[in-house]
Amino acid sequence: MNLANRLKPIKPSPTLALNAKAKALAAQGVDVVSLAAGEPDFDTPEFIKQAAIEALRQGFTKYTPTAGIQELREAICAKLARDNQLTYAPDQVVVTVGAKHAIYNLFQALLNEGDEVIIPAPYWVSYPDMVQLAGGKPVIVETREENGFAPDPDAIRRALSPRTKAVVLNSPSNPSGAVFSRAALEGIAQAVRGHDCLVVSDDIYEKLLYEGQFLNIGNVAPDLVSRMVVINGMSKSFSMTGWRMGYAAGPKWLVSGMQMIQDQSTSNAASFVQKAALAALKGPQDFFVPMVEEYRGRRDMVVDALNALDGVRCRRPEGAFYVLPNVSGLFGRTYKGTPVTGSLQLSEILLNDFRVAAMPGAPFGAEGYIRMSFATSREQLRKGLDRFKEFVTSLR
Ligand code: PMP
Ligand code: GLU
Repeated sequence: MNLANRLKPIKPSPTLALNAKAKALAAQGVDVVSLAAGEPDFDTPEFIKQAAIEALRQGFTKYTPTAGIQELREAICAKLARDNQLTYAPDQVVVTVGAKHAIYNLFQALLNEGDEVIIPAPYWVSYPDMVQLAGGKPVIVETREENGFAPDPDAIRRALSPRTKAVVLNSPSNPSGAVFSRAALEGIAQAVRGHDCLVVSDDIYEKLLYEGQFLNIGNVAPDLVSRMVVINGMSKSFSMTGWRMGYAAGPKWLVSGMQMIQDQSTSNAASFVQKAALAALKGPQDFFVPMVEEYRGRRDMVVDALNALDGVRCRRPEGAFYVLPNVSGLFGRTYKGTPVTGSLQLSEILLNDFRVAAMPGAPFGAEGYIRMSFATSREQLRKGLDRFKEFVTSLR
């Protein structure tokens, strides 16, 4: 027996794999510092947990409509209006099992064999694989560190083809932490305006912003809203990675297709988790302020420590909770007599010999870089940075 052909180009998620490996080492008693996964160390706020407990107590434990309970879809529309100045109706919203599920269903609903999706690099590891699982072809557009990793409108223009079905934007970005400026978004809008394709705006890091104001492409180009899909979820902002709660809002025809896929696969996201999400969206939003301040302090600590190392250069990210230091200055130096030549090898040495889990840049389309998450305590970060320094200074 063989696996289906559609799995041939697919790789396991390297972020989840490294995270699992670091957790397994820690469970064995190894003193490993994990800077691997994009997973907040903050606990889910108590009022959100209470809402789930209350829902369970009240017996809210049955199937719900596939797209999510009406109240939650209304609350999502109210959130999109309140925070993003975007107008959606509940029948344009589908509640999913994490934002990842929303993106997966979106590509399943949209793509025919060979349809193209433009993905600026560095990108979140799962975008290309999810496109391929749907039979599509990822078309990678390089961005430059000097331009703050914002996609160049001309590069997008060149990548557009009659087969382009969507362009994926993720700002604040995983893994670069880059936040696209108004001018950058206007440039991208101009590039796609003449082309009949969707714009996917993955806003999952919306609340983790250290400079300026959050903007998605619909804010700068209202004419594109009718062909924009907003992806968001509770994992990052509300520290709810394990709850698996996300959503998509977009044109009705597309959302109906996504719902149909969900009808025949997962059905609804867990009923009591929907109640928790409702509480999260409707409840106090003031806890974001100290949380973001704490992340900002960690960001500065990590960026300053990395930039003090010879051969390492780290851009200060404007959002999300990742740094993407450029480590290509270390390539060619030797570790225990062997030249270091790439990010995969470097991250393996870091884990095996220095007990620091950091993601190699390669699976993010960012060879020459590594990604470190600062969604962990300052104490762990300090320890991880000390170990990284030990590695760098051991190179010859
Ligand atoms: N988009 C981006 C850019 C991400 O980094 C992630 C990873 N958590 C997701 C979507 C999916 O998150 P989740 O499925 O936990 O909502
Ligand atoms: N998105 C997070 C990351 O990049 C969580 C793991 C995953 O789903 O990829 O680390």
